[in-house]
Amino acid sequence: MKVFKFGGASVKDAQAVQNVADIVSLYKGEKLGIVISAMGKTTNALELIVDALCQRKKSNFDELVAERKQFHRNIMLELFDDPNHLIFNEIESQFEELTKMYDARIPDNYDFEYDQIVSLGEVVSTQIVNAYLNQRGISSGWVDARELIRTNNNYREGEVDWNKTEELFKQHFIPRFKDVDVQVTQGFIGHTSEGLTTTLGREGSDYTAGIMAYCCGAESVTIWKDVPGMLNADPKWFDNTIKLESISFREAIELSYYGASVIHPKTIKPLQNKNIPLYVKSFIDPTADGTTIQSSTSNDHTVPSFIFKMNQVLFSFTPKDFSFIVEKNLSDIFERLARVNAKINLMQNTALKFSILLDEEKVNIDTIKSLFEDTYTVRFENGLELVTVRHYDQATLDRVTVEKQIILEQKTSETARLIVKQK
Ligand code: ASP
Repeated sequence: MKVFKFGGASVKDAQAVQNVADIVSLYKGEKLGIVISAMGKTTNALELIVDALCQRKKSNFDELVAERKQFHRNIMLELFDDPNHLIFNEIESQFEELTKMYDARIPDNYDFEYDQIVSLGEVVSTQIVNAYLNQRGISSGWVDARELIRTNNNYREGEVDWNKTEELFKQHFIPRFKDVDVQVTQGFIGHTSEGLTTTLGREGSDYTAGIMAYCCGAESVTIWKDVPGMLNADPKWFDNTIKLESISFREAIELSYYGASVIHPKTIKPLQNKNIPLYVKSFIDPTADGTTIQSSTSNDHTVPSFIFKMNQVLFSFTPKDFSFIVEKNLSDIFERLARVNAKINLMQNTALKFSILLDEEKVNIDTIKSLFEDTYTVRFENGLELVTVRHYDQATLDRVTVEKQIILEQKTSETARLIVKQK
């Protein structure tokens, strides 16, 4: 069995869904477990719906729900020849359920509400794609991922119970292939032991593909993207990008850790554990070779990779009593940062100063200041960029520092990380 994952961009409109069916047709006779995300920017739209519900803005909520419903309806009208196709009712009733949620509960737990609502994007998307595959003569089944992926109740960032999940895949997923070759399910969502819906964190559908492959002992995973494979840099920030032909699991984990956004970082580990190759391929050119991610590290050094993180803010904390930055201070600093769930992109210390780099849009500068100011002198500088270069040499570093001032530099034999700002 092969696992395919189609992200939001690959099902963003009717043509895109038709293209998915074209790709699936290329694999006729093979067993495919297909993981699909919400259509286009639906997850973002649903996030606004959660906000409207939690802030009790009824007319805003109704408007946003109507807009999302219409978005899906338009896609269905293009896809289905029969305007009385059952799928129209199915999707209608999903949105009715959503509408009812407004009055059904007192929203006292944002993260919980988030998962109940945002998961709808994946549910409707997979229902539509599955119905369309069937219309195209591809016999496929729809499977509810909330019956397969077991997580704890850490809403919005559910942690997978691997033993239970593997058992559920063995009981409720693998046997389906006896009768039907193609099984379609949702990325990103799971359930708690009480049967409540959870999500795995934004962009979590890749992770679902990894979980499915691990639990089923799949032959491979293919992530279908709008790029020809994994590139050595984001074309948004870089000219003349190069496609990586083949890299190791280890290299892929390193790249995604530093922020390469092609693959969700948690996806790789389960595949590495069972040595299941991961292909990143273009849904625009599906027969072209993409990138292969596998166990061999022999090609990792051939091409340098560049990862850019824009809009960074560098904080430094100096103990007011001029004590050295040692273990006691460090644990105090980390404990405070954990309280506000800060995600550190880079850190460094000197004798008297501990510095961290954070995404500007994910922190409130005043919150950080007030969190530390009792014990530390806090300084910050924003408007910075973090550039990570894997397998660097001087020429590659020169290339990324043209007209930039280097604020901080960290190097290991394989990785250089530079905090820079525009000169
Ligand atoms: N739909 C979810 C998101 O946009 C999960 C995914 O697409 O991977 O984050």
